Amino acid sequence: MIRTGVLAQLRFPVERSLGRRFPESLPSFRNDFQRDRDRIVHSRAFRRLEAKTQVFPAGISDHFRNRLTHTLEVAQLARTAARVLGLDEDFTEALALAHDIGHPPFAHSGEVALNRILDRFGDRFEHNVHALRIVESFEHRYAMYPGLNLSFEVREGIVKHSRDLAADTVGMLAEYLPGLRPPLEAQLIDLADEIAYNTADVDDAHEAGFFTLGELGSAVDMAGRLLEEIEGQFPAAEERIQLHELQRRLIDHLMRGLMEGTIAACEGAGVGSVDEVRQHPERLVRFTQAAAETSAALKQFLHARVYHTQLLVEERDHSALAIEKLFGYFLEHPDQLPPGPEGLEGDPLHRRVCDYIASMTDGYFLRIYKQVEAQLTQS
Ligand code: MG
Repeated sequence: MIRTGVLAQLRFPVERSLGRRFPESLPSFRNDFQRDRDRIVHSRAFRRLEAKTQVFPAGISDHFRNRLTHTLEVAQLARTAARVLGLDEDFTEALALAHDIGHPPFAHSGEVALNRILDRFGDRFEHNVHALRIVESFEHRYAMYPGLNLSFEVREGIVKHSRDLAADTVGMLAEYLPGLRPPLEAQLIDLADEIAYNTADVDDAHEAGFFTLGELGSAVDMAGRLLEEIEGQFPAAEERIQLHELQRRLIDHLMRGLMEGTIAACEGAGVGSVDEVRQHPERLVRFTQAAAETSAALKQFLHARVYHTQLLVEERDHSALAIEKLFGYFLEHPDQLPPGPEGLEGDPLHRRVCDYIASMTDGYFLRIYKQVEAQLTQS
């Protein structure tokens, strides 16, 4: 049994938030983190997650995850861990719901393609930074200010949930306490994300016929052990049901490993406050050794048997090429760009093109791409 609430003294207290960029009166029935969570859910960028690829492109199956359903799975796992550990569940949920809103169309290949293009301009694309630009500038909903005016810690968590900021960070990220770790609530997101995508990708890829359960069982130790247990209990169950049994047991194993590993790391480090978590030289949200091994083995298996297979590689090359072409088109036809949000018109052209393309859903991208292609073949 995992001891509950043992990290409550490390919970980030909402009343200690450094607050919003534009001060607002306190809401009457929600605290600031609950309010931030609700703002994220009501944003356009959040709704666009529905039409962005997670791993498998839309159209092959109605049951594959897209970036929205993936996000909901991350939120559910992260909230569970936060509640058990005694951390702030609302803060965790807000960060989980925001964690992928900066993703461009076409999953990882979209990010790689944009980064490669920006590199030619001595610039770079990073989805966490793009997410910050979305919540700070591109969302236009409120009369009083641009963006969503989120609390400092939520903005910090958007930037730092998956990586720390070097102490010498300059520019727009310099205000987010470079050199310090983010609160545990933000650290949780990265591993909850890893549990969610590894187990979901096993499910989706098995459904798509990439491998058999036997192959997964021999490649991933823990999966093999759990499959033996499942076959012993339900020898007549069909493979699909066995897979679901396996998936829930894998999630259970990884989630326990996440919570136990985190408790052990915090106790081992002797941290007693949020400030000490921030000052600690390493992140304290961790897997146990066993869970870390399972997670790494799952990742390795998915790389070998799914992500690098011809079908997905071709799909990715195809989208990367389309992004290159559309990017080139807008560089040559800047008059075709929609008017940018206030204050961003001073950005260089390549950055404005990048922001526009990065904000697109897969579907919107393909519509615009078709129009542009038709226009180019006519002229
Ligand atoms: Mg994610």
